[in-house]
Amino acid sequence: MRYSALTLLYHAFRGHRRWPRALPDVAPKHEYDVVIVGGGGHGLATAYHLARDYAPQRIAVVEKGWLGGGNVARNTTIVRSNYFHPARRALTERALTLWPRLSHELNFNVMFSPRGVLNLAHSTAQLDDLARRGNAMAVAGVDAELLDAAAVQTLVPTLDTTTVTRFPVTGGLLQRRAGTARHDALAWGYARAAAERGVDVIQHCPVQTVLRDGGRVTGVDTARGSIRAAKVALATCGGTSDLAASVALRLPLENHLLQAAVTEPVKPVLNTVVTHGTLNFYVSQSDKGELVLGGDIDGYNTYARRGDLPTIEAMARCCVSLFPAFGQLRLMRTWGGVVDMSMDGSPILSRTGLDGLYVNAGWCYGGFKATPAVGETFARMIAADETPALAGPFSLERFHTGRVVAEEGHGPRPWRYH
Ligand code: FAD
Repeated sequence: MRYSALTLLYHAFRGHRRWPRALPDVAPKHEYDVVIVGGGGHGLATAYHLARDYAPQRIAVVEKGWLGGGNVARNTTIVRSNYFHPARRALTERALTLWPRLSHELNFNVMFSPRGVLNLAHSTAQLDDLARRGNAMAVAGVDAELLDAAAVQTLVPTLDTTTVTRFPVTGGLLQRRAGTARHDALAWGYARAAAERGVDVIQHCPVQTVLRDGGRVTGVDTARGSIRAAKVALATCGGTSDLAASVALRLPLENHLLQAAVTEPVKPVLNTVVTHGTLNFYVSQSDKGELVLGGDIDGYNTYARRGDLPTIEAMARCCVSLFPAFGQLRLMRTWGGVVDMSMDGSPILSRTGLDGLYVNAGWCYGGFKATPAVGETFARMIAADETPALAGPFSLERFHTGRVVAEEGHGPRPWRYH
């Protein structure tokens, strides 16, 4: 729905009452050509591209909760493409070329803010490692700047760059085109744009099982009845293993809780995203002024969205060790999301052994940034029943062949990436 300036004025004079619904409230039909399970960023972006780029089809996005209730609106909004591994870099770089145009494309302000992402180094060896990553990026035509400690201090004056700290800063790798975006706006933007193109976006409709007949998918069973479909795409993030199990598909995924927190809002003190080089910690400042803190996963498997205090304490400790001045701020809110951690730290974007079943999962710490590229790529996979080049390395096959996609040499564990 596109509003002209006149419509805005009209509603302003009427006291902003009785605006038309942004999204129709749709009940599930008995049959679609494609059912996408999961109304997060990835599912909605996929539906949007299916409807926009391919021959007319009956498409539904079936979401168990409400739009933006999943990780799409629980994340810390970092968007970047600064990966060493070519496959990770190619997919996220495609997304990074789409992000700046997205508000216009969706007619919804996703507030993309290319404020830069700075990865810190705390030793000369680590700086060498960042130089290696930066060189790999530069060779691939992706922007990367290696900074020494003095340049880091100029860029982020609030950072403690003295040498007597627990983690002295020796430099950093900066990607200036990277940054942040408004997460729930992404979900709403894609949902509204998909609905305008005829997609049924169905909320409050949990899918209980995927249905099959021999080697093919035939639909899904939901809490609101069965839906027949020749193609079913899972974009259910932390809920994927259960649904896949309903058709005897075992996925190499573990669910963990990933927490984040915000401080009380303050005037602008941090104009870029900063990530710790040793511990899993990162911080940025929201447009409201809150410092947005992200940390590591809670170290046990869970479907619960409430986490442990020690993880938040570790986050706060890291924050204060890098930015002593932030120690004066109070934490206002913490929350968590269930992330599906794959065994090599990279996503699964794959066809399966069942005809008509497609899986998008395993995004670990970092699927938000890739959303626009996932939408394009997953839609192509579903529409043409083929594996697009960008998705090739992320097929399920890799766990059989051993051709895993790990950001080797960039941390003690393969899944330490957000
Ligand atoms: P979701 O929004 O979780 O969508 C999946 C949807 O499927 C949910 O709405 C869920 O309700 C639905 N669903 C599940 N099961 C069923 C079912 N049976 N039936 C129907 N619907 C179902 N990524 C970044 O790139 N940058 C970051 O800075 C970043 N920070 C993060 C910080 C935190 C605290 C967390 C938790 C995640 C972070 N991520 C980040 C990861 C990112 O949020 C996810 O990888 C990404 O959102 C996953 O894709 P999605 O948006 O489709 O997932």
